[in-house]
Amino acid sequence: MPVSGHGPYDPQNIFARILRGEIPCQPVFENEVALAFHDIAPQAPVHVLVIPKGAYVSFADFSAEAPAETVAAFFRAVGEVAKALGLEAAGYRILANMGPHSGQEVPHFHVHILAGRPLGARLVAGG
Ligand code: AMP
Repeated sequence: MPVSGHGPYDPQNIFARILRGEIPCQPVFENEVALAFHDIAPQAPVHVLVIPKGAYVSFADFSAEAPAETVAAFFRAVGEVAKALGLEAAGYRILANMGPHSGQEVPHFHVHILAGRPLGARLVAGG
């Protein structure tokens, strides 16, 4: 079920539980502000999720409410992850779903990194 990109943060969401170590993940990167791990249902040969450690429901919440240094550090981390995975030469796509029309399913802000094959020119999946 798509989730609202607004409203209170649910501390029982699956990514909050991953951050607390209650549910395992396959990590690829971690620093003070971000954790990156492989998506459990990859939609490309490389499909990694990067999440802030803070409690933000969505991109809307994160971009409006997180301190500027956290926003900067988070997006730097996304770039570092892609670089460390060796994705820069062939390229990659980053994507964040926000709210019901996007199909956002997990109410903790996350950026998808998709790579490993030509991803096509379409920006919108489904319809
Ligand atoms: P979104 O639709 O943007 O909210 O994306 C949520 C993503 O989280 C989907 O691509 C799921 O496959 C992924 N996902 C859900 N549960 C887990 C989990 N336990 N570990 C890793 N990825 C997950």
